[in-house]
Amino acid sequence: MSEEPAHHDCIVIGAGFSGLAVLHHLLAAGFDAVGVDRNDAVGGTWLVNRYPGVRTDSDFPIYSFSFPVAVREEWTWSEQYPTGAEVLAYLQFLANRLGLIDHIQFGREVVRAEYSEHAGLWRVDFASGPSMTCTYLVSCMGILDAPMWPDIPGRDTFAGELLHTADWPVPGVELAGRTVGLIGLGSSGIQIMPLLARDSAALYVFQREPNYVVESSFPAVSAEQMAHIRRTYDDIWRRAAAHPFGVDMVIPEFGADEVSAERRRLIFESKWQEGGHHFANETFHDLATDPRASEHAAEFIRSKIRQIVHDPATAELLSPRRYSFNGKRVPTGHGYYAAYNLPHVHLVDVRTTPIDEVVPAGLRVGARTYPCDVLVCATGFDAMTGPLTRIDIVGRDGRVLREAWRTGVRTNLGLSVHGFPNLLLSLGPQTPYSNLPVPIQLGAQWMARALTFARDHQIVLEATAQSEQWWAEEVERTGRATVMYEEGAKAGAWFLGANVPGKRRELLVYMGGGQVYQQHCMQAELEQYRSFRAQG
Ligand code: NAP
Repeated sequence: MSEEPAHHDCIVIGAGFSGLAVLHHLLAAGFDAVGVDRNDAVGGTWLVNRYPGVRTDSDFPIYSFSFPVAVREEWTWSEQYPTGAEVLAYLQFLANRLGLIDHIQFGREVVRAEYSEHAGLWRVDFASGPSMTCTYLVSCMGILDAPMWPDIPGRDTFAGELLHTADWPVPGVELAGRTVGLIGLGSSGIQIMPLLARDSAALYVFQREPNYVVESSFPAVSAEQMAHIRRTYDDIWRRAAAHPFGVDMVIPEFGADEVSAERRRLIFESKWQEGGHHFANETFHDLATDPRASEHAAEFIRSKIRQIVHDPATAELLSPRRYSFNGKRVPTGHGYYAAYNLPHVHLVDVRTTPIDEVVPAGLRVGARTYPCDVLVCATGFDAMTGPLTRIDIVGRDGRVLREAWRTGVRTNLGLSVHGFPNLLLSLGPQTPYSNLPVPIQLGAQWMARALTFARDHQIVLEATAQSEQWWAEEVERTGRATVMYEEGAKAGAWFLGANVPGKRRELLVYMGGGQVYQQHCMQAELEQYRSFRAQG
């Protein structure tokens, strides 16, 4: 006779930022909650994306949680934009310090989750090991858990070392004396490029669509700075939670066309010097909403490329012309443009002449074959929906999530889907476009309160069809008010699903602002989750 699967109140899938926050708050609320993760340690995206140069592009105080105070007091950051290794160490510290580690099962890859209406529970099946059941299932699989290889024929024939930035080997890859090819110039490719250039004998960078890169250094955090941050942390967190993009930055007073051309240049210059997302968020308030303002920022960055890159033809090739600033999620560079001045670095335009195939010796582009010993793909992810649609999530009446979303993503606030009772999503599609720890923490706290209410009042949480319709219209309406919608379509942005061949084009994030989103979540709570009570 087969044994009954182990049962828990809650199963939390994933042990990255989201999984740790949700698990902590569910345990604190008295749930019997267990975390499961396919990896062998906590860290999620920061555990697997260990390529050279990986670091956050958010300032350190807001790339962490405000809970609990003990962790804030004990943890010390060393650089303004912490390395991936440091972020991973923070997550491991958090998991150990809060005792979460004892509640997580590793090496447990979820392949299927099915809801039984009759029993009122979810059964979760794994690639290996026994199944489990739970009353509440929470997906914390992250937005970038489904890496994509480029759709280029012949990949399997490559005789050299083939790597993806999202699955970087530990302890690393020997590059000295080797010729390296790099495909992909989003945030990952832009971070790894200068280090590939530094360490290889020759580097070919295969560029399709160029990006607007905001350059930045990463100054050390002093003891005084850290002490000041600790003293003022609650204010920092409050300001970040009140900002549309979840950052502790001041919203500028003026639009880009409300000042003279010279004043505009000076403001752009001062924030360019400050570096990173300060340029995007602290110059003018309309870079994300007014195409003219976004084009002013675009032209400023093109002028910087011309200043930094010595070869005019290379500078021009690096300058986006088909879309304006914010059309793609803005990447931070650390010596990115300057690295093109090195004599052994070659930029190859594969938009005019696309890559034909991977051959054993390297890449064939038109009549020429570029030799590579190592081929690095920084080719992105099936973002937002990919982690949820590549496994079988089966809700009421045998409804499969992947099928339900084939005609368009539908959620209530990105948190819950009609037809999938007692399933909650952390960072589900249609949640804010933001510095992520902020919505992750607020979402985890919302979930703990919602599930407590559901448990205490014996109700099932499931988005109503009406709420999904309302939220889809809000996502569309607010998205269309930004430049991301049209410019993102021109740029092939992942937040529109435009980077995945065959994927439906639709806005996968909420562009209306994190603070507005939180008000909607609060309203749902005040209404005792009425829009999450499809079952009366
Ligand atoms: P991405 O932004 O989707 O970039 C993928 C790149 O691969 C693009 O340059 C794309 O070119 C290129 N590509 C794909 N297929 C190709 C092909 N067949 N031939 C040539 N080029 C091809 O992916 P990502 O860089 O991994 O970044 C994804 C997201 O992860 C970021 O936007 C960010 O949210 C997050 N991230 C954050 C950090 C950080 O915070 N520090 C670091 C890394 C990633 P096209 O543009 O022409 O399609």
